Amino acid sequence: MKKEIADRLSKEYANLWDDSMRVIPDGWITPLLTMLDRLYGLSDVDRKSYQGEGLSTWVDLHIDVSPIVAIAYATPLKPAGKWTPGRALACVEALAEFSVQTGETCRTCGEPGIMRLDGIEGIYCDQHRDEEAAKIDKYAALYDECRVIFPAVHGKAIDLHVPDFLYDLLASSLRKIKQVVEDEGGYLEGKIKITRLEMIDGQLHVRHVYDQMPAGAEPAMMEIDDTIRWLEGQSDELVRKHNSDGGSDAS
Ligand SMILES: [Zn+2]
Repeated sequence: MKKEIADRLSKEYANLWDDSMRVIPDGWITPLLTMLDRLYGLSDVDRKSYQGEGLSTWVDLHIDVSPIVAIAYATPLKPAGKWTPGRALACVEALAEFSVQTGETCRTCGEPGIMRLDGIEGIYCDQHRDEEAAKIDKYAALYDECRVIFPAVHGKAIDLHVPDFLYDLLASSLRKIKQVVEDEGGYLEGKIKITRLEMIDGQLHVRHVYDQMPAGAEPAMMEIDDTIRWLEGQSDELVRKHNSDGGSDAS
């Protein structure tokens, strides 16, 4: 979810908030809030005395998010409050319902969604499933186009699936590096490799290596170093701008 939303919710739901909730996609915020509201209401379940049960929150939460489901884990607060069967059941039901809802809700927009066995991993509505498919095609095409600057085996270290608003920047930077590698009759081909390209906590990280560079290749190396530094710097800038503009899901 966007940082500004996470920041707001972390204050509104301060007692139950956990930073693992920040990676919940925008479409799953409603299921999250439904669960948090139910967990805040646990003191009202089986309430015996008019003063309440002495606790406003009962559990610590941690969330695991995958493309097809989000799972909430709860640990009773210490010292534990007075758990009754009804209260425990209400807690478990809130956690279970959260997972069920995420598995039936589009990650992007919150409309009803399903998981399809068509190579697009994730719960999406029809419209966002099509958008994801178009993205995958676009990224796969970019990878193929710039194959010469990546290791021979396509491992997990190269992940071109940056947020959509970074795509043009990434594509133009990779094309520029490819151009440098292929210039001068391609004598640098195979000697420059991007060994790592991935988003970590909203930051684009790019690593590259030079191998047995021929004499006189320093200007090319400088140009590639500059291009990568520029790509990472511009990417940070765009992520910051995107988060403060309140664009769509930056995760
Ligand atoms: Zn959708």
